Amino acid sequence: MKTRCSFCDDHAIYVLKSRKIRLCKKHFIDYVRTEVENTIYRFEMLKNVKKLLIAVSGGKDSVTMLHILHQVCKELNIEMLGLVIDTGIGEFSRRQVDVAITLFKMFKIDYRVESFSSYGIDILRPDLERKVRRPPCSICGIAKRYIMNKVAIEENCQAIATGHNMIDIAQYAIANILTGNVEYLRKLLPKTEEGPKMARRIRPLYFIDEKETKLYVETLRLPYVSETCPLAHKRDTMQDTVRMFVRELEDKHPGSIRHFVEKLSNKIINMLPMEEDRYSTCKICGMPSKGEICSFCKIRMALRE
Ligand SMILES: [Zn+2]
Ligand SMILES: [Zn+2]
Repeated sequence: MKTRCSFCDDHAIYVLKSRKIRLCKKHFIDYVRTEVENTIYRFEMLKNVKKLLIAVSGGKDSVTMLHILHQVCKELNIEMLGLVIDTGIGEFSRRQVDVAITLFKMFKIDYRVESFSSYGIDILRPDLERKVRRPPCSICGIAKRYIMNKVAIEENCQAIATGHNMIDIAQYAIANILTGNVEYLRKLLPKTEEGPKMARRIRPLYFIDEKETKLYVETLRLPYVSETCPLAHKRDTMQDTVRMFVRELEDKHPGSIRHFVEKLSNKIINMLPMEEDRYSTCKICGMPSKGEICSFCKIRMALRE
């Protein structure tokens, strides 16, 4: 016997356990879209935004975000610019760039392709970790954030949208609590405030499970890169263990992680002391920096030595 959708006679493809509802294709797509739109309006993510930079890696999350945002932006008359970053990890990165460009063309969105190599970063260099004294994933994260912000400033985009999902947010938050870096929790808000030469960051998928973005792209048959980064397989870090814990918690106690990110966004973060924004300007590149030289320029300098 087939399971029926809670809202119509169609066959259910997804069970939203935390709300005890079953959804057919149409009602599942509607549910994801409504959740994302509600998040955008609730946190005023697009307030005063005339042009939005949307960072697409080609994975299920950013593809879902692009599909929903391109409709939202159309309705709100907001200009969009796509960005894909070629991280130089062989065939994997080539696939990411191909998929992103296919989607930008499909949705008729202007786009830019940036590559790590044009900034002098070769993420596959055998001596990378020894020279920079950071793991490749950390270097990749810093470089991506820097490039996204630089492109947003150059292109007059007031905000940057990234596809972090609910599981990513919970993982980062719990890992930061475990290491005692609670000041970083402020960076995990659904929306961060803009500053001089610093565009606003928004995370429209804040309350969306990774299982839902996978089903979303598969149901709509959107192209996406299903492989995960080959460099991530080589690790067995605390972050990986925390992620498994977050996944297991949400599966065994549906809604628990959603409840956690909800509390994180409106309660936990507000209980932290306001961090003073002591941003100055990087002596080398002129972009915002906490120290005299920004983390990105420090990486590039270490690699030149
Ligand atoms: Zn239905
Ligand atoms: Zn710099």
